[in-house]
Amino acid sequence: MSTEERITLKHGAGGTAMVELIEEVFAAAYGDANAPRDDSARLDLTGPLAFTTDSFVVDPIFFPGGDIGRLAVAGTVNDLLAVGARPVALSASFIIEEGLPVRDLVTVAQSMAKTAAEAEVRIVTGDTKVVARGSADKVFITTSGVGCVLRDGISGAAAKPGDAIILTGSIGDHGAAVMLAREKLLDTDAISSDTAPLNDIVLSLINAECEIHTMRDPTRGGIGAALNEIAKQSAVGIELEERAIIVKPPVAAACEALGIDPLYVANEGKMLVIVSAADAQRSLDIIRQQRWGAEASIIGRVTSNHPGQVRIRTSIGTTRVVSPPSGELLPRIC
Ligand code: MG
Repeated sequence: MSTEERITLKHGAGGTAMVELIEEVFAAAYGDANAPRDDSARLDLTGPLAFTTDSFVVDPIFFPGGDIGRLAVAGTVNDLLAVGARPVALSASFIIEEGLPVRDLVTVAQSMAKTAAEAEVRIVTGDTKVVARGSADKVFITTSGVGCVLRDGISGAAAKPGDAIILTGSIGDHGAAVMLAREKLLDTDAISSDTAPLNDIVLSLINAECEIHTMRDPTRGGIGAALNEIAKQSAVGIELEERAIIVKPPVAAACEALGIDPLYVANEGKMLVIVSAADAQRSLDIIRQQRWGAEASIIGRVTSNHPGQVRIRTSIGTTRVVSPPSGELLPRIC
């Protein structure tokens, strides 16, 4: 098929046009030529396994630092990593709006292939549906993923008083980049999404046997939402140091203009890692040596005080509560 074409309803109708689309766009980008075209992929895995799923509806589908395809792969990979699993295989299911240029779909599929290669994960199965113009917006992707659990017990419920909270880099980059791209306010490359699969960071910590209690990728709702979830799940308090949390100046300016607190803005290439105090410095050193981890820092600690609550000590020395976000601050950022 030609990349000059646009997707029509026949590409989702189960006939030759659909086979052509699947073979020439998806299979060409990330398919295994030797795999039989059966109803299911076969995986040879031994447990325990981790299994997760996520849908991606980001608008626009291309934004500085990434696109919906990279996001769909990295998002699911990072959710597997967050429970101490090595990602193995993904499914990718597409809902495509009639009229989408085939060229855009090829770009998205190739981006997924590249990101999957980075994450050492295979996309082994998928589905394609086409809906009439106006029934969806360009393309929605659902990725599910399976991984082998390498370390048992890493959980949002396992943070303990005294633990250190490491954040692998700056906050707010993804949400700010997507919002500005959507509003067409982005005329510089000063802000770009951090979308990335974090295999190197997580697997090197597990290999080094660092005493990790909790990991979470602070996506929708940002670190504010993720840390509140952990404080509740583990029935502990969390104390943050504002000056240890990096917000790049252009992101800070964008958040101020949009009237949002960067603590609640989505990240797509960051991990919160909660480790025993004894392993905090060693873990930080390991993370800083990895791709995407150079700016990691210890942003706070877990305490037995104020269980269920997150507090932050501001740069001027006052303390305030970081409440859980009450609703969707930024729609369609992932
Ligand atoms: Mg997650």
